[in-house]
Amino acid sequence: MKIDVLTIFPEFFEQVFDFGIIRRAKLAGIVEINVHDIRSYAVDKHKMVDDRPFGGGDGMVLKPEPIFAAIENLTGTSDRDAYPSGTRVVMLTPQGKRFGQRIAAELADDIEHIVLICGRYEGVDERVNEALVTDEISIGDYVLSGGEPAAVVVVDSIVRLLPEALGSDTSAENDSFSDGLLDCPHYTRPAEFRGMNVPDVLLSGNHAEIEKWRFRKALEKTRAIRPDLIKDENGECEQ
Ligand code: SAH
Repeated sequence: MKIDVLTIFPEFFEQVFDFGIIRRAKLAGIVEINVHDIRSYAVDKHKMVDDRPFGGGDGMVLKPEPIFAAIENLTGTSDRDAYPSGTRVVMLTPQGKRFGQRIAAELADDIEHIVLICGRYEGVDERVNEALVTDEISIGDYVLSGGEPAAVVVVDSIVRLLPEALGSDTSAENDSFSDGLLDCPHYTRPAEFRGMNVPDVLLSGNHAEIEKWRFRKALEKTRAIRPDLIKDENGECEQ
C-alpha cells in the first residue's frame, strides 16, 4: 500500500510514523508513506497556500490550485473518475463520514493508494471536494485545528490491519471493535502487585477456561461502557 499525505506542515510528521508497528511495516515494504508539502505545489511567487474567504468572514481557506497540482502529480489526473483503480483521495474534515474500525478495515482490504488531504484554518476550498475527493472522513465529532492528527489516526489504524503488519506476536482479531466487542482486560507479571491479584483463571493454564473468561469480560465491559456496540444482531456496528 502507498499512502501520500498532503499538508502545509510536513514537519508535523517527522517522526510520527517511525515507531512500532508502522515503522516495522515501512521497513518490511508493506507500506510506503510519503508526506508532501502543499506549499511546494504553490504556483505564485509568494508560494501562497491560503487566502481570504469569498463572502467575507473570519479565517483563511486553503487554495485549490496547489492541491489540484499535487493530486495530478500523485495520481496522474485531477479527474476523480479517472483515478487508477484502488486509489482513494481522502479529505479529513469534521463534516465527513465518521471513521472507525469498519472503514479502516475496508481501506486496508481494498485499497492500494490513499492520498490524505489535511485541511487547516477554516478548511479547504470546496472545489477540491467537488472534483478530487473520493471520501470525506471525520475522526470524531470535535474540531481539530488541522487534519494532521486525524491523518495520523487514519494511517495508524489502517496500516496495523495490513496483512503481515502486526507480525506473529500479536493479532488484530481480538482487538476492540474487530469482533463488535471491546477487548478483554490484560495482565502481566507480577501476579500480585500492591495487594491486587491477577484473576486466578489466567494463571490456571486452562486455555478453554481462559478463553471463556476473556469473552465474558469483553462482553461485560462492552455492556457497561459501550452498549451501542452490541445492539446490532449481525455484529455490525457503526464503527
Ligand atoms: N470550519 C471547519 C473546521 C476547520 S478545522 C468546520 O467547522 O467544519 C481545520 C481542519 O482540521 C479541517 O479542514 C480538517 O482538515 C481538520 N479537522 C478538524 N476536525 C476534524 C475531524 N474531526 N476529523 C478530521 N479532520 C478534522
